[in-house]
Amino acid sequence: MTDMQLTTTQQTQTDVADARQQTNTIVVGAGPYGLTAAAHLAHAGVPTMTFGRPLSFWKECMPEGMHLRSSWGASSIAHPEQRFSLDDHQARIDRKISKPIPGTEFIDYGEWFQQNAVPNVDERAVTLVSRSAGGFEVTLEDGEILHAKNVVMATGLAGTEWHPAPFDDLAPDRVTHAVEIRHPDRFANERVLVVGSGQSAVETAVLLHEAGAEVQILARRQAIHWLTRSGWLHKAPDWVQRMLYASTDVGPPGLSQIVARPALFRRLPERLRIPIAERSIRPAASGWLLPRSSGIATSEGERGVAANVIDGEVRVRTDKGREITVDHVVLGTGYRPQVSTQLLLDEQLRSVIAVDDEGLPVLKNGFMSSVPGLHFVGAMAAGTYGPLMRFVSGTPFAGKTIASAIGVS
Ligand SMILES: Cc1cc2nc3c(=O)[nH]c(=O)nc-3n(C[C@H](O)[C@H](O)[C@H](O)COP(=O)(O)OP(=O)(O)OC[C@H]3O[C@@H](n4cnc5c(N)ncnc54)[C@H](O)[C@@H]3O)c2cc1C
Repeated sequence: MTDMQLTTTQQTQTDVADARQQTNTIVVGAGPYGLTAAAHLAHAGVPTMTFGRPLSFWKECMPEGMHLRSSWGASSIAHPEQRFSLDDHQARIDRKISKPIPGTEFIDYGEWFQQNAVPNVDERAVTLVSRSAGGFEVTLEDGEILHAKNVVMATGLAGTEWHPAPFDDLAPDRVTHAVEIRHPDRFANERVLVVGSGQSAVETAVLLHEAGAEVQILARRQAIHWLTRSGWLHKAPDWVQRMLYASTDVGPPGLSQIVARPALFRRLPERLRIPIAERSIRPAASGWLLPRSSGIATSEGERGVAANVIDGEVRVRTDKGREITVDHVVLGTGYRPQVSTQLLLDEQLRSVIAVDDEGLPVLKNGFMSSVPGLHFVGAMAAGTYGPLMRFVSGTPFAGKTIASAIGVS
């Protein structure tokens, strides 16, 4: 090989390396929102790279035996050509999927969606996102550095678990957030106090009880709210039900129609947005958990104020002056995503992102934060676009909106 040929070969290799390191958009996360964003961006012709282990939150952070709270019609991941829906998946596997949808079935469906709609997902984790000239520098777990004009953060809820202060003094082997419980049978024969009254708390309590634990629930709300359609509504004609309940399945009758329209929700004054959001995602448990919870003692309208281990047992003191003695506390206390805890974003970047009172990014058109080119989808977008963004049924809006914003940028 002549010197000239060698130089040309080296040049080509450099070009390839440069092309690999520079792309228009990087999507961080391969859950429902990352996948939908990537599929829509690819369809819009935007060069995109997507990172993360597909559906890892569903595979690793939800208990075995869980079922979806959302209905069939609200659980498909959006595709730009309306392909790869749950209906398509069910037809493909030639077997009826039971309802409520088992978590394992949703994972199978999500993996099939990924393999077909976003086959080029790179499973490496992103370790840092920082600003660079003309865009962002994205560092991967193996040290590779990429550059992109836009970054779409779709990292979901993992790492945003809420740990209430009264349980801070318990050692990690005595208190577990629900997100860490994959195998409920590890608590068989233990006395467990589950704190919380939302879907995750109640379903975890039921799964622990069915796995042989002696379970009690401590709920600060006056009563657990069970999600059942009230009698008159259940009997109402289909068109009345459809008018009151949007197919996105988030929020109570009536409000559900507002929540289903994130662009409208975003334009409402704060005095309406906040109560609508709170009412739509107040702690509640699916009605189908009610018969399965009959053996579980529940204390309602009571909260834990302190917890310690005394003589090998966990003693939880409540605001009613009671002491509850158990072996373990499980926190079904939900999640609080905030910009300040997104340590993936470098400190400088975090410090300049405009946030609302809850610490969520204030987003402009196209899910873009106050930092041009930096977008947030999923639960982090709920402060601006409303509670729909916490659910899979928000993916059609998110996918379409982000692709049209980045596609023309
Ligand atoms: C117990 C429970 C039950 C739920 N049930 C329902 C339900 O029935 N219906 C419903 O619609 N929603 C439900 N949800 C909410 C559900 O989590 C969201 O709807 C959905 O998972 C949101 O998708 P996402 O892509 O935003 O986040 P996730 O599904 O959490 O995906 C985030 C992705 O980001 C990746 N990631 C994270 N960090 C990095 C990194 N540093 N580098 C690369 N990748 C990274 C992860 O690997 C993961 O794949 C439930 C949540 C919980 C906790």
